[in-house]
Amino acid sequence: MKRLRTRKGFLVVISGPSGVGKSTVVRALIKENPDLRLSVSYSTRPPRPNEQNGADYHFVSEAEFSDKIKEGDFLEWAQVHGYCYGTPKKFIQEQLNKEQVVVLEVDVQGAAKVKDALAAGKLKCAVVFVFLIPPSVDILAFRLKKRKTEDEEVMNYRLRAAIAELQVMEKYDYIVVNDRVDSAASKIRAIINVEKERMLLN
Ligand code: 5GP
Repeated sequence: MKRLRTRKGFLVVISGPSGVGKSTVVRALIKENPDLRLSVSYSTRPPRPNEQNGADYHFVSEAEFSDKIKEGDFLEWAQVHGYCYGTPKKFIQEQLNKEQVVVLEVDVQGAAKVKDALAAGKLKCAVVFVFLIPPSVDILAFRLKKRKTEDEEVMNYRLRAAIAELQVMEKYDYIVVNDRVDSAASKIRAIINVEKERMLLN
């Protein structure tokens, strides 16, 4: 019989192509499961209406973001659509020390960087990689267009980029189809429950 592990905290990295609905699913997951800890990223993007500083993102200036990079405050950071996004190292470490399950929502570059940090031994914890996919490419195009925040040329560019991002899905531990928000969130909860049991046996 395998020895029981003492540390039960782990990271759940949720990624997927732009427009798949990652933040909506993650919000639903956290709302329904208050035992999970959400890592709130830093971003240089201006807040959208209804977004709250500290809850959706820590909104910071480019200078503040650069300082954080220099201080080594990020587990990973990336530029997405012209803005910088970074995952705070300290919060994650604090939560892992408390044996919590920490959920990160990052773009595909961010997930690859977390994987690299793991491989390089810079991150010493268990990590579960979950990739969200749309039910179809047509639905992805529809969801990107629904945002109406960009012009058509930008939308088409983003759709091509999102389709390219789908190619990395086999590198993930789990693939979840975002058919409906509540069902995608429930599927991720089920994955977390299975992983919790599995970690105890490792
Ligand atoms: P949005 O500006 O629409 O909230 O997010 C744009 C993209 O940035 C999304 O794909 C989102 O998953 C990603 N993102 C959010 N936080 C982080 C982060 O800390 N690191 C990385 N690499 N991507 C992030």
